[in-house]
Amino acid sequence: PPALVWFREDFRLADNAALADAAQSGGPLICFVILDEARLPGAAARWWLDGAVRALDARLKGMGGALHVFRGPSQSVLRRIVEQTSARSVFWNRRYDQKGRETDAAIKAELKDAGIVAHSHAGALLNEPWTVRTRSGTPFQVFTAFWRGVRDLGEPRPPLPEPKTMSFAGLPESLKRDCLRPDEYALRPQHPDWASGLRDAWTPGEAEAHDLLDSFLAHDLTAYATSRDFPGQDTSSHLSPYLRSGHITPAQVWHAVADRTEAASETDAAKFLAELGWREFAWSLLFAHDDLATRNLRPAFDAMPWRHDPEGLKAWQQGLTGYPLVDAGMRELWQTGWMHNRVRMVVASFLVKHLLIDWREGERWFADTLVDYDPASNAMNWQWNAGTGVESAPFFRVMNPILQSRKFDPDGTYIRRWVPELVRLPDSVIHTPWEADPDLLRHAGIAPGQTYPAPIVDHREARERALAAWRGLKAD
Ligand code: FAD
Repeated sequence: PPALVWFREDFRLADNAALADAAQSGGPLICFVILDEARLPGAAARWWLDGAVRALDARLKGMGGALHVFRGPSQSVLRRIVEQTSARSVFWNRRYDQKGRETDAAIKAELKDAGIVAHSHAGALLNEPWTVRTRSGTPFQVFTAFWRGVRDLGEPRPPLPEPKTMSFAGLPESLKRDCLRPDEYALRPQHPDWASGLRDAWTPGEAEAHDLLDSFLAHDLTAYATSRDFPGQDTSSHLSPYLRSGHITPAQVWHAVADRTEAASETDAAKFLAELGWREFAWSLLFAHDDLATRNLRPAFDAMPWRHDPEGLKAWQQGLTGYPLVDAGMRELWQTGWMHNRVRMVVASFLVKHLLIDWREGERWFADTLVDYDPASNAMNWQWNAGTGVESAPFFRVMNPILQSRKFDPDGTYIRRWVPELVRLPDSVIHTPWEADPDLLRHAGIAPGQTYPAPIVDHREARERALAAWRGLKAD
């Protein structure tokens, strides 16, 4: 009988424990994915998923197989596949969100009752979220201690190679009917087709992930610790959507970095690995708090008088706040499905503090627009920036969008890339166009309030308003 390989968040052949185990089991493989409406991510990540499925299908076809695509509730679709193929074994890599774990446990129990073995393997983290613990067995609350805990566990296991040989079984006719053709995946936007910027910026796939990693290690790791903060230089790895869809694993990235440390300084390599550590930390937090995206981890913030400001929210979403760095970030996000990390922090702080809008609005917008949307990293970072999370930046530390802009985009490269209407402003006023001399603005082709908005809030007033709201909480 065939062995079933269920792909979920692991669209790759190398370092894929479930696939390697299935290939070794000797039976011919049937590889598939289930598009379960209850689990589909936001629009940009759905676009990515479409590409991920096609890329893996193409690779498997090159080897004589295919990635079959089904739609429906995971449990009932899997039941039908098992029945129709008479398979005796199913292989998958684990997922760690609560709903996913519950579904998998229910499926495993059902399969067991039917005498079918489910082989589940560790998923897309260096360590499973329950394995990194304090001495008293509780989850870490603080990143540095968590990361030390990870380092104490030693090197991550070496990545697995691609299976050397695989044979594939065809689908029975009865099941072929249920299979979707690529034009039926319904993951890409139709009308309007807003994905052209995403297509220009990204090619999902396992080979592309490794090309990116190689190029990052060859060119950008050496100065990573400092240059990572400068969005105009754009030297971070851009691996986030590839990690999210499992085109590449953190273990592969870790070992590739370790093999290269002679070329990079210890500081740069350690800083980069620690970023992978934040991803691990986020998953350990989500594992401990399934409602990380919806509940203030600091309950005092439940009483925060967040403003209802649909206009302000819209201006933020569209990159029309009048603060050039904020607008550049939000437009990069809209056009490419990705935003530089430093700018993500600035725009998050702006929404939550300058506009005093609930961080959950920002979390939801990012969830819908990021190709790298990750339920753990997104929720943790929003709580961290809003000051509502564990070990987060305190709320009273309000990022100044003008100083951030001057410091991290000093020559306005990033602003000019994403806010073309400001392209002709000199560096001296590119961060604060409202302060520019009217003649200079006219010369640069800018009509304030018409071609580019005046600031929707005054920095100092907005800062005071946020602090007053926060002080109100403290007084309660
Ligand atoms: P690099 O600097 O090259 O880092 C390598 C990898 O480390 C990244 O690919 C990512 O997997 C991980 N990483 C880096 N920084 C962080 C971090 N702060 N938290 C968790 N993991 C990190 N990242 C996501 O992957 N998905 C999200 O949904 C997401 N939402 C965010 C929301 C906000 C408000 C903020 C401030 C940050 C968010 N991040 C998120 C974290 C970070 O911005 C991105 O991971 C990073 O910008 C991706 O670019 P890169 O791959 O070039 O990163």
